[in-house]
Amino acid sequence: MKSRYDVLVVGGGPAGAVAARTAAKKGLSVCLVEKRPAIGAPVRCAEGIGREALAEFVAPDKRWISAEMTGAAIVAPDGTMMKLESNLAGNKVGYILDRKVFDRELVWQAADAGSDVFVKTRATAPIMEDGVVKGAKLESCGTVTDVKSDVVIAADGVEAKFARWCGIDTTVPVREIMSGAQYVLTDIDIDPYSTVFYLGNEVAPEGYLWIFPKGARSANVGIGISGKKSGTGHRAKDYLDKFVQKTFPEGKMIEFIVGGVSVCPPLGCTVADGLIIAGDAARVVDPLTGGGIYNGMFTGNLAASVAADCISKGDTGKKALMAYDAGWRSSKMGRAIARNYHIKEYLIKQPDEKLNAIIKSVSKLNLTEFSTITLIKEIMKVNPKLMVELGALAASLR
Ligand SMILES: Cc1cc2nc3c(=O)[nH]c(=O)nc-3n(C[C@H](O)[C@H](O)[C@H](O)COP(=O)(O)OP(=O)(O)OC[C@H]3O[C@@H](n4cnc5c(N)ncnc54)[C@H](O)[C@@H]3O)c2cc1C
Repeated sequence: MKSRYDVLVVGGGPAGAVAARTAAKKGLSVCLVEKRPAIGAPVRCAEGIGREALAEFVAPDKRWISAEMTGAAIVAPDGTMMKLESNLAGNKVGYILDRKVFDRELVWQAADAGSDVFVKTRATAPIMEDGVVKGAKLESCGTVTDVKSDVVIAADGVEAKFARWCGIDTTVPVREIMSGAQYVLTDIDIDPYSTVFYLGNEVAPEGYLWIFPKGARSANVGIGISGKKSGTGHRAKDYLDKFVQKTFPEGKMIEFIVGGVSVCPPLGCTVADGLIIAGDAARVVDPLTGGGIYNGMFTGNLAASVAADCISKGDTGKKALMAYDAGWRSSKMGRAIARNYHIKEYLIKQPDEKLNAIIKSVSKLNLTEFSTITLIKEIMKVNPKLMVELGALAASLR
């Protein structure tokens, strides 16, 4: 490990890996540190991502794709099912990844591009000079090393400690942390080509339950519920166990994970002097779906591009780095986060009867495109009253 790099990336998830890869490809000296002993493990994810979104950053490869989806279904609280089939939806659905291998591949690509990579190496504090982030203290196997850099990219995930140490408030209200639990179940009867989402206050209050197939008879079966709805006897795991006992009583659990996802608005500002915050740490997860792999890669890539530009101009102050903040906010991804936050806030307040009615209204539709926004638009079309209830937001959906 050198004592100085152009860019220091904290965190080896999708955001950090893509940031390191992009920065290295632009000719910068890059150090990526990951506190865990192995990239990608343990997995804290349902591993779903849209095909086109993924391909923006990495060519799909069957070494890290567990399953290819051609359909999806949404199940209302009363059991009404809405199905989306790929033949109707233009054959663009998605993948269920194997993130243990996928995350590793991204970091390999960062290393191939020239980044130094260190696992079991944790950033424990920023190095600050006159309020400017100048690097980090890195601890590995009991040894602490000071590493300086022109820019630190904090991609340390949902805990977002690095930015907090730099004085940025990264707190998420309890109600906006989705408390997640997931089993990898095997020996279960599923449609191996379709994801299934279950909605309803009995099944997953202020969240949803998912079945994401990983093969002919295996799937990630998981749940996310609002942190505010979680408590003794009714944690995410309790809801999940109830569902699994009823739906897959013979299923065998080969993995169990728990984890949190933020579904709040993004941080008010995602840069500071010498610092860029990317991925979950910046709270850029899609608040409606809880999906953050793509958003992590998108912000990681942009963070590195802006860092390279600013370093080449010799100015890595907050004002110069604001190009990153403005860039992702005005992007399609940034606009989708803003829109989906309002939709999520609306939907979580609806009683089960309303959810039943909404899903019933679109259960017979033939959608021509497979995306959250297409579905929302169709729902609005056949439920004109929702336009009024969603107020100003409705205009952006027409
Ligand atoms: C239950 C669950 C299901 C999900 N399902 C989906 C899904 O189906 N699709 C989807 O798109 N998203 C999903 N997500 C969200 C997705 O997993 C994240 O949005 C994504 O991993 C974000 O990438 P990231 O690089 O920002 O953070 P992470 O992947 O969390 O990576 C951050 C890395 O930083 C490391 N780190 C933390 N602190 C330090 C430190 N001090 N020093 C060094 N390293 C550090 C961590 O060990 C970690 O490896 C899910 C999340 C959960 C919890």
